[in-house]
Amino acid sequence: MFSKILIANRGEISLRIIRACKELGVRTVAVFSNADKYASFVHLADESVCIGPSASSDSYLKMERIIAAAEITDAEAIHPGYGFLAENPEFAEICEACNIKFIGPSPQVIRLMGDKNNARITMSKIGVQVVPGSKDILKDEKEALKIAHEIGFPVIIKASAGGGGKGMRVAHTDIALSNAFFTAKAEAEKAFGNSDVYIEKYIDDPRHIEIQVLADEHNNVVHLGERECSIQRRHQKLIEESPSPIVTKEIREKMGKAAVSAAKSVNYTNAGTVEFIMDKDLNYYFIEMNTRVQVEHTITEEVTGLDIIKEQLKIASGEKLAFKQKDITFHGHSIECRINAEDPDKGFRPSPGKITKIHFPGGPGIRIDTFIYPDFLIPTFYDSLIAKLIVKAQNRKEAINRMIRALDEFYVDGVKTTISFLKMILKNGDFQKGNYSTKFIERIM
Ligand code: ADP
Repeated sequence: MFSKILIANRGEISLRIIRACKELGVRTVAVFSNADKYASFVHLADESVCIGPSASSDSYLKMERIIAAAEITDAEAIHPGYGFLAENPEFAEICEACNIKFIGPSPQVIRLMGDKNNARITMSKIGVQVVPGSKDILKDEKEALKIAHEIGFPVIIKASAGGGGKGMRVAHTDIALSNAFFTAKAEAEKAFGNSDVYIEKYIDDPRHIEIQVLADEHNNVVHLGERECSIQRRHQKLIEESPSPIVTKEIREKMGKAAVSAAKSVNYTNAGTVEFIMDKDLNYYFIEMNTRVQVEHTITEEVTGLDIIKEQLKIASGEKLAFKQKDITFHGHSIECRINAEDPDKGFRPSPGKITKIHFPGGPGIRIDTFIYPDFLIPTFYDSLIAKLIVKAQNRKEAINRMIRALDEFYVDGVKTTISFLKMILKNGDFQKGNYSTKFIERIM
């Protein structure tokens, strides 16, 4: 195991990684921008290094400063968390070149999976079902139209370099498709510096279901079951649960096997997530693989009893997985709510500022992953996630009731939050019946 690692991130995930390290006896180095000077992750790490001004482009995205911080503190490895440099193959390469272990898959795998079109091609080759659509990057608008007529409208144009819901456009007609083709390309060029797009059938009312995998550096790969992430607003997840209300043991086994073979086919190592969309007839199709730990990894930890961050560190330090697929069992039900500093009454506008009062829920089955505290000033520079509220209970009904009770107890003053909006979803009859899709929020608004 490493004796010291650096965490190239901020906020709740930085603190989450520090906690895992402390329990493993690994020393930690936090990096921080000027805006995060007083953040708890900075003070709870064993050491901390300021890496620049508040803007991410001047701090958390500055590879050379992060590498320099690792070198001056003698950190042996870097955990990238999620977002920022977590899926940047160049950063993983630079870490390797500097003899610092990148806690994640190899740069080659990050590059392959980061190109969603290539990932699609790779998955089809090994027999994992992908959404019907183009076989490669679209050459022009004419090709998009031809494929749309073959697979039938509606269709979705997606950026190959895409992420965070950017560079995606749905089209129901020929004219709309021409527009979608050009607007998706322009958005992709602006956001990712790469205008490559491909086309897929747009699945009506799908569910987003993803499988967590763990792969060591000795060819052992396991899956940790599914997470249902269909409660999304503008393709951003808000509530996740495990198990999914619609996934049976048989489907879990099949999807799990597909995810494991996906990982094996590319020599995947460390933690990763294979994302699928599922149609009304429970057919599932690969959409992408995330080569990092995800925000919602917590609910998988709750139902499997495993600590995914600790597993990431063990794998990166060369250890073999201490369990096989048959040893992984699932207990109870877990739900996560993402609490954002946003104003739901004003179009979910970010609501940064000073937290004047705060009361966290507690009691049985409650976990809170957060970095905020009274008087903390939420900076304007980063995403608006301020806390993850996670519950675990014997079954789904009990988990929903527990989440409503916990949201009732959760009190934040000084900034607006999504707490009341989340409560409304948890109380919705269709949600309670497990009867929902990625269209749920659009429908209830
Ligand atoms: P990103 O990398 O930007 O997150 P994804 O490919 O993971 O993009 O898709 C994000 C979300 O967009 C999915 O969770 C789903 O809600 C929706 N989506 C993506 N592809 C399709 C599709 N073919 N049909 C219907 N919805 C889709």
